[in-house]
Formats: sequence, structure tokens, C-alpha cells
Amino acid sequence: ALTVVWFRNDLRTLDNAVLCSAIDHAARHNTALVGLFIATPQTWAQHDMAPIKQDFIRRRVQALRTELTALNIPLLAVEGSSYQQVPALFGQLSQVFQVTVFAQTEYELREQQRDAKVAQRLSANKGVLVQFDTQCIMPPGSIRTQQGDIYKVFTPFKRSWLARLHQQGVQCFGRPKRVNQPPLQLPEHSVMQPGDDSSANWPVTEELMLTRLRTFCQQRVADYQQQRDFPAVDGTSKLSPYLAIGAISAMQCVARLQLEAKESWAREKSGAEVWLSELIWREFYKHILVAYPQLIKHQPFQADTAAIRWTNDKTLFQAWCDGQTGYPIVDAAMRQLNQTGWMHNRLRMIVASFLVKDLHIDWRWGERYFMSKLIDGDFAANNGGWQWAASTGTDAAPYFRIFNPVSQSEKFDPQGDFIRLYVPELSKLQGAALHWPAKAGGVKAYPKPIVDHSIARKHTLALFAEVKKS
Ligand code: FAD
Repeated sequence: ALTVVWFRNDLRTLDNAVLCSAIDHAARHNTALVGLFIATPQTWAQHDMAPIKQDFIRRRVQALRTELTALNIPLLAVEGSSYQQVPALFGQLSQVFQVTVFAQTEYELREQQRDAKVAQRLSANKGVLVQFDTQCIMPPGSIRTQQGDIYKVFTPFKRSWLARLHQQGVQCFGRPKRVNQPPLQLPEHSVMQPGDDSSANWPVTEELMLTRLRTFCQQRVADYQQQRDFPAVDGTSKLSPYLAIGAISAMQCVARLQLEAKESWAREKSGAEVWLSELIWREFYKHILVAYPQLIKHQPFQADTAAIRWTNDKTLFQAWCDGQTGYPIVDAAMRQLNQTGWMHNRLRMIVASFLVKDLHIDWRWGERYFMSKLIDGDFAANNGGWQWAASTGTDAAPYFRIFNPVSQSEKFDPQGDFIRLYVPELSKLQGAALHWPAKAGGVKAYPKPIVDHSIARKHTLALFAEVKKS
């Protein structure tokens, strides 16, 4: 018999309930134990997964192999192509062994279909797939109103979530003990290819990942509330890529936060409390995704907004993608995304609002473009963020509240340091002209604004009024 830990979005050995349960199972039933990872680049491409995220996953899997070797658990890292092949792979394995597979639950559509087929294949040979709902600290569906409904608004969700945390306490699974098993003869498989190293700026060893978390909680979380909105300042944790692939768990973040910010972590509006709220936003969007499966099909949460007549001008869309809109903060942000695969949260809100409410382009175009570039691309957070900005989602910004990209720029990049970093054409400008080059008569190498904000704003109001009335 064989016990398999199938790693998916939980690429870690610490605080990994799936791994711990598999180790326990293998010991109790005296079976061999292996780890498994299956790269599926064709499906990843179908999901618009950014190449930098693909590389990040591949690098992390290599590091995971080393960590598992220290536990005497071999890792089979298989190069596949699409999800379609996956059930057959388990079929083959279960012809040779009686297999019990342990894996983390995934919520998206194709993932669910794949897992149903895998379970079927396994059960044909007396095997079984055991799933663990561990992407969140509180599994989707577990936080409900007194009437038993799902929360559609963040603040009461957060209150309920926190009450539950205080009830159950903060606890991580520790490092598993080394497994005692003889060397295994592993089945032949095509070995996972290395990545292209495009994510090399993001360390993937356990030690460096945990250092990042610890350093943030020790040195920066106290000022998080004051600093987090300024893209020129290194004020946020930059842990999103790790959380997105489960290289670090949310519970590890909370445990570290509690340890390092003992005094302040429960105090309203302290840096620690605000940071914890962001981790709860992450859970909120996953809960919503599971409760409203139409979101997985990219439908808007507010059904009436499906009828909005977006203009969808391809030239304007391209200018936005390329960071050539003539709005410096938007362009700097899009260039940050294109060059580094990551974008600051304030900027994500600004560029999303700009695409939808200044260029009148369907939010799904932006959602998709983000996915194709982000190292931290995560369906629930990305969909939630886009629907928030587009005023089509839960808790959405009311449609008549429209960001003015120039005043956002003046407020959150007051010295223009961030703009200068990514839009060198403007580096000689000072003061207000940096946020609005037309003030200085424009700059030759830099595009003129592609839209007039005040006209665009009125058009947005009309687009929404049309569907809200009917
Ligand atoms: P911190 O400020 O340090 O926050 C800590 C963690 O909390 C983050 O790493 C992240 O896991 C979580 N978090 C923070 N803000 C949010 C949020 N609003 N929603 C959900 N989780 C949050 N985040 C992603 O992880 N993947 C995405 O694909 C993604 N797409 C987005 C698209 C749009 C249009 C918007 C407005 C936001 C999006 N976000 C996304 C949320 C947020 O911008 C990033 O999580 C954050 O910028 C990551 O930086 P950080 O790790 O330094 O965050």
C-alpha cells in the first residue's frame, strides 16, 4: 500500500495538516509514503497563470523537495501538461499499489472536476482521495450569520471570524518528525522541468520565507496602518505570492503576528489589527467564491451589472496594459506590474478603477490581464478586488464613488517618488506637473491623457444608472 501527499496550493512542510495526516496514516497502516506534485503548464496557461507565477511554483517545489528529503519523504515531481491527464496518472499508480491520497481542497471549477475524476479512478482500485479544507483558517461555509446565512458584507464577517479565532485559539501544526521508512522504488515518471528563473527576486527556501514574515511582524507591522497606502514606501509584507501558493499559511502569519505584536494585535486600528484584517479579506473572498459559484464563471456578484454596456475599446485597453495612458500614476503602476509581476494594493485599486470607470472597459478584461502578469495571482482575491473596484461585487465601492486618478496620485505618491521610479520620462518634472504633465505643457516622450476624466466620469454614471433603473 502507498500513502501519497499530493501537494497543490500548500507547498510547505510547516503547518500542513494534509502532510501531518498523511504521515500519521502511513505510520498507522504501515504503508510507504511519498509526496507528489504535478506540473500542468497547459492548464496553467488556460487559466492565464502568469509565467512568473509558474516559475515561482517550480522553484518552490524544488525547495520543498529538499525539505521533504530531510523528513525522509521522497517527492515525485511530475511534468504533465493538463488536468485531463491527471486521473490516468492516479489510475496507473493504483494498479500497482493500493493508494490513499491526501490533498488540500481546491475550490475552482476545473480543479473540482479533476478531483472528482481522480477519486473515481482511485476507488475503482480500492483507493481513496481524502481532502482537507485548509486554504483558509476558517473553512468556507463555517462562518455564518445567526440565521445561518453567508455574510455578504465584510465587517460583520470579520467580527464573527475574530470571535471564532478567539474561541479556537491560534495554533499551527509543527514540523513533522522524520519518517522511518526504507528507500522507496518510485514509479518511472517524467521529471518536472526547471522554470525560467523569472521569479528569482522572490526567495523560496523555508528559512528566507520565514525571515520575511518574522521581519515584517517585528519591524514594520506597527506602522502598517500609516504606511500601507504609499507605493513608494516598503510598508506592506509582500507575502502575497507565498500565501497564493501556500508556501506560507495564513495561520503561520497570524501565529507570528500574535507572537511579535503581543500588545497591539487585538487593539482596533493598530498596525497589527489592520494587517490581520487583510488576511481576513483573503478568507472573505474565498468564502464568497465557494458560496456563489457563479463567480467562478466570471459572472458579476450584482446580477444587474451584467447588462452594463461597456465600450471595450481595444486601443484604450492596450494603452492601459502598456502603461501609456498619459496618467502618470496609472502608467507607473502598470509598468510595475509588467516589469516585476507584483503591484501595490493602492495601485491595484487605482488602475482597476481607471480601466472600468475612465476607459469603460469590462472589468473581466482587467481581471484576466492581472492574472496573466501577477506572481500572486489568486482567483478569489483577484475576482474580489476587480468586482470591488468595478462596483459589481460584494461590499463594492458604490458606483458613483469614482477615483480621480490625479488626486489619488497627489495623495498617495505626494513626492512623486514612485512615478519617477517607473516613468523616467517624467523624472525632471516637479510638484503638481509630475501628477499631471499637461500643467507643464506636456512632455514630448510621454503620451497625452487618453481620456478626459470628468467626461469619462459622467459616462460611467450614465452606464450604471441605465442598469440600476431597469
Ligand atoms: P499585505 O498588505 O501585507 O497583506 C497581507 C496579505 O493579506 C496579502 O499578502 C494577501 O494575501 C492578503 N490581502 C491583502 N489585501 C487583500 C485583499 N484586498 N483581498 C484579498 N486578500 C488580501 N491579492 C492576491 O493575493 N492575489 C491577487 O490576484 C490579487 N488581485 C487583486 C486585484 C485587485 C483589482 C485588487 C484591488 C486587489 C487584489 N489583491 C490580490 C489584493 C491585494 O492587492 C494584494 O493581496 C496585496 O497587494 C499583496 O501585497 P502584500 O502581500 O504586501 O499585502
